Amino acid sequence: MQSILSTNYYVHFQEKAYQSLHDYLKDFFYSKIFILVDGNTKKYCLPLFLEKTNLSLEPEIIEIEAGEAYKNIETCNDLWNQLSEKGADRKSLMINLGGGVITDMGGFVASTFKRGLRFINIPTTLLSMVDASVGGKTGVDLGVLKNQIGLFSNPEMVLVDMDFLNTVSQREMRSGLAEIIKYGFTFDQNLWTTIQEFTGIDMDKITKLVYKSVAIKNDVVLQDLHENNLRKSLNFGHTIGHAIESYFLESAHKKSLTHGEAIAIGMVIELYYSSEILGFPMELTEALKTFVNTFYGAVNIEKEDLAEITDLMKYDKKNVSGKVNFVLLEQMEKCKLDIHLDPELIQKGLLYYMHSGN
Ligand code: NAD
Repeated sequence: MQSILSTNYYVHFQEKAYQSLHDYLKDFFYSKIFILVDGNTKKYCLPLFLEKTNLSLEPEIIEIEAGEAYKNIETCNDLWNQLSEKGADRKSLMINLGGGVITDMGGFVASTFKRGLRFINIPTTLLSMVDASVGGKTGVDLGVLKNQIGLFSNPEMVLVDMDFLNTVSQREMRSGLAEIIKYGFTFDQNLWTTIQEFTGIDMDKITKLVYKSVAIKNDVVLQDLHENNLRKSLNFGHTIGHAIESYFLESAHKKSLTHGEAIAIGMVIELYYSSEILGFPMELTEALKTFVNTFYGAVNIEKEDLAEITDLMKYDKKNVSGKVNFVLLEQMEKCKLDIHLDPELIQKGLLYYMHSGN
């Protein structure tokens, strides 16, 4: 698979990834190499990575607890302290080995420590491979509010090795698939055509889907890194999705949702708005709803949850002057940006999902 050139770094795949890392490390002097992992990637990914790389410098392993609940400034504080105690300096390299939580937070910690350490991202979940791997977004949550603190900062390179997916749970694989569905609706409907046939994760098709997704995202990012225009399209499903994800994260009586599970619901609801006001074909909205309910299982959102979910939308990063901005679709691959909706329609969309599979 050919490497993909992003803003000023490459995404390398499979064997080429390790060769590129080897060449890169040969050419630079590093005082120390830190590898950031969580409990799961330490167990499942680190041995494989160390075996395949054979680093000349003994790396320092820094481990954090797994999960979105730890993607916050307290964990960053702990990481900055550890870097400081372990003698990190501006010639140190940080390798972020994990899912989107590790690459987002590791990138942020590296970029802010002593005004910036170099870092390399090695995404190990489907979601982080297809979405968090390119685009330079780093950061953490503020309480339950998603990705409120952070900055754009690029890694030295991104390495994608599909072997890491062998230990990812089916639930996390489905989570990643939601972002590929997003690319299908917003940029390349062939992806959706392929996925619509899935009754489970079809590993034979995943490699191609990952490559195509990275290529699409990279193409968008190259045109609009700072999300002034085209890149906003990739927020399709995320205005509602992030609010639902945050709500489930903070509710003691709800089981938490994966990022992709929340985004899948968000896309169904935002397609409903698209059908209501932009004439997006309702049969396609229905097709996505049926797929999401079958593939992800219906999530129980109750009437009493609605006010708070709606309220959480006001923290969306696309909002301007307190107005919630939606990304909707006029047709497949044709997004309309910065759409404002009536509160009644927002509620109707939530009810459309609630009444679909429960
Ligand atoms: P995650 O990092 O929490 O990983 C999900 C789970 O899988 C965790 O429990 C993790 O320990 C485990 N895991 C990771 N790799 C594994 C492996 N190979 N085998 C077994 N278990 C493994 O979450 P995620 O779903 O990868 O990413 C979600 C995060 O990414 C969110 O915080 C989201 O905001 C962020 N994100 C960022 C961008 C971006 O552009 N920067 C884009 C999309 C999502």
